[in-house]
Amino acid sequence: VQAVARVALVALVALTGCEPKTIPQAGATVDAGEVALAATASAREDALAPVPVAPVVAVDLDAVLHAAPAAERLAGNILTAGHAMETLAELTFAHPSRVTGTKGHEEAAAWAVDAFKKAGVASARAEPFTMAHGWERRPARAKLVAPAERTLHVAPAGWFPPTPDEGVRAEIVHPAELTADAVKKTATKLKGKIVLLDRANKTKGWPTSLDALRDAGVLALVNAQGLPDQSLQAHSAWYTRGLVGPLPMVDLGDEDGKLLVRLLEKGPVTVEIVSTSPITDAVQVPNVVAEIRGRERPDEWVLVGAHLDAWDFAEGAQDDGTGVAEVLEAARAIQALGVAPRRSIRFALFGGEEQGALGSHAYADVHARELDRASLVLVSDSGGGAPRGFLTGREDLTTRLAPIAKLLEGMGGGALSSAFECGTDACPFALTGVPAISFDCDESKYEDIHHRAADTLDKVVPAHVAQAAAILAVTAWTAAEVPERIAPRATHAEIAERLKKAGMLDDLAHRGVFVP
Ligand SMILES: [Zn+2]
Repeated sequence: VQAVARVALVALVALTGCEPKTIPQAGATVDAGEVALAATASAREDALAPVPVAPVVAVDLDAVLHAAPAAERLAGNILTAGHAMETLAELTFAHPSRVTGTKGHEEAAAWAVDAFKKAGVASARAEPFTMAHGWERRPARAKLVAPAERTLHVAPAGWFPPTPDEGVRAEIVHPAELTADAVKKTATKLKGKIVLLDRANKTKGWPTSLDALRDAGVLALVNAQGLPDQSLQAHSAWYTRGLVGPLPMVDLGDEDGKLLVRLLEKGPVTVEIVSTSPITDAVQVPNVVAEIRGRERPDEWVLVGAHLDAWDFAEGAQDDGTGVAEVLEAARAIQALGVAPRRSIRFALFGGEEQGALGSHAYADVHARELDRASLVLVSDSGGGAPRGFLTGREDLTTRLAPIAKLLEGMGGGALSSAFECGTDACPFALTGVPAISFDCDESKYEDIHHRAADTLDKVVPAHVAQAAAILAVTAWTAAEVPERIAPRATHAEIAERLKKAGMLDDLAHRGVFVP
């Protein structure tokens, strides 16, 4: 037991009058039955104030088991009489194109409000936020002009500006290093050229030097994505400081990228690019929200979320159609229990996730004064693989959720990992200190599917979606039902330390997402 943990142990013994047989280490698997609990939330926070990882189980196993009959009914309803796959089929058929801020996304949001209402959750509504710029996909084309003529496989990169109407035709260059310094030093060689970015070889400095490339007079960027069979993966400019890329960019198939590199080894290469997708003015983007009010502590809440927006090469079946179907299914089943939970359970289908989790950032901003009363946020955005459990991002949270995870083992959802990730809508909540966890499943096939033309309904295994919905519903219900809140809000210093450990602090600070 480390010194800090011992201080906490003494405090716990003083408060509870009993000494736990084992004190869990950070990140350890906990047999909750061996760990006593009685401390009040405020006394516990005082005792643990200087300790970033609190080694105390906050959730009483008796309370979890007390909630278990409802959990059994929820899981049983979803797994035997559920609609998750039908909901996903309806969404992907009726609203396949859901790029943030477009008409397709808005129509999908109206469908989602209606779907919540059909599930009995009458409070569903759109809660719009403003996005500084919209973007609409229009055709892009590119060709090799010299030393030979050939069509190149390209697509416009989202939220990057179009080329002039007549396109750009210029020599292409392939620098090995594109740090801002390197770009400044070689500016005269880059001026008036098209630059080949090589994501497969991780061109050094990309993508943080985009502004420097524009300032050097580069005409456009060709981003070789390195995905086999000329496959392309949609993306936007979320990694830049602003929402919009500083100069035109098209994404390029792997085989075409390799051809350009081979030709460049022999001599000058000229390409022509025409990209016509416009960046528009500010747009109103809907987050779809709904709530089942708590019976005892309605101002405290648990939130279950996913993102409704999707890339449009296909129908966003896994990214994040599965998450949307699971959230709607969890809402339906919880409503069908006919009993209000102790705390409120909120549901959110965010917009703008693919442009930098804009919808969940907006939610956390608009509801900033309610965040102290958030008990747990759960987000599903990992695709339709076989369920594993949750990524908690916090070792104390892993410890505290262990008793609930026991209820999920039979559905394959009992694994908890303390890994911190900032790739989806749990992150904006975690950055404010709210306990926020991400549904975790087998992602071994996910990279081959999401954001690509392959993200279609036929890849989804119906049993996985139903299991995931049951895991979300049981976790949300139990977290809303246990007498105590799951975990305290983390302090700013604790969050900064966690980001530093995860190697994310510099990137998030650069993007202005987190101010250390
Ligand atoms: Zn996603």
